[in-house]
Amino acid sequence: KQTQRLDKILAHVGIGTRSELKRLAKEGAINVNGVKVKDSGMQVNPETDVIKVNGEAVLYREFVYLMMNKPQGVVSATEDNRDRTVVDLLDDVYAPFEVFPVGRLDKDTEGFLLLTNDGKLAHNLLSPRKHVAKTYFAKVEWEVTETDREAFSQGVTLDDGYETLPGILKILQSGNESNGELSEIELTIMEGKFHQVKRMFQAVGKRVSYLKRISMGPLVLDPNLALGQARELTKEELLALQ
Ligand code: URA
Repeated sequence: KQTQRLDKILAHVGIGTRSELKRLAKEGAINVNGVKVKDSGMQVNPETDVIKVNGEAVLYREFVYLMMNKPQGVVSATEDNRDRTVVDLLDDVYAPFEVFPVGRLDKDTEGFLLLTNDGKLAHNLLSPRKHVAKTYFAKVEWEVTETDREAFSQGVTLDDGYETLPGILKILQSGNESNGELSEIELTIMEGKFHQVKRMFQAVGKRVSYLKRISMGPLVLDPNLALGQARELTKEELLALQ
């Protein structure tokens, strides 16, 4: 790869704005291949030159991959006029990477959301032909039955006439209306139509009252992530996605 401006690279990894980097260079805080940098606009090769800021090596990378435990009340978008977005919840260090959510969860849905600036990976994961499995945990009003499981395993017809692919329904706990107990289920689907889980239950006359995505493809929501928190994917997780 050819050379790029040092300040552009450092700004890209979130170290500072161009003017802040100019100041850091003046203060002698930036070092390339063991030599103090005077001009923060110098050309460097991010693959081969060793860049340090305040003595710490800078890892240049083009792409960032984050797993978020999305809370309710925020929208799966990068910008919104009314609501907070999932991107607003991220640590500022990720701002320069301009990540976006891979697919959407409803405003009132929680759980696993992948954010990246890798358009190609996002495109592959979202491609309807790839049939990436997504598993949801839901609480449903009221009784979810074997008949529903059968129906989902065949595919159901949504309100707009769309016939879903088969989905795998696991009934964790069957509720009943008489004592106000919700059913608890897991549903795995291979596609991602608008409000699909809610509409699949609607197709069998039931209402989802709580929805959380727990996995997407090979990735499982990290139980250590509190609602609203995000972390970078591990190397293994990233490899599993390729
Ligand atoms: N299905 C839904 O109904 N909502 C979501 O957010 C995700 C899947």
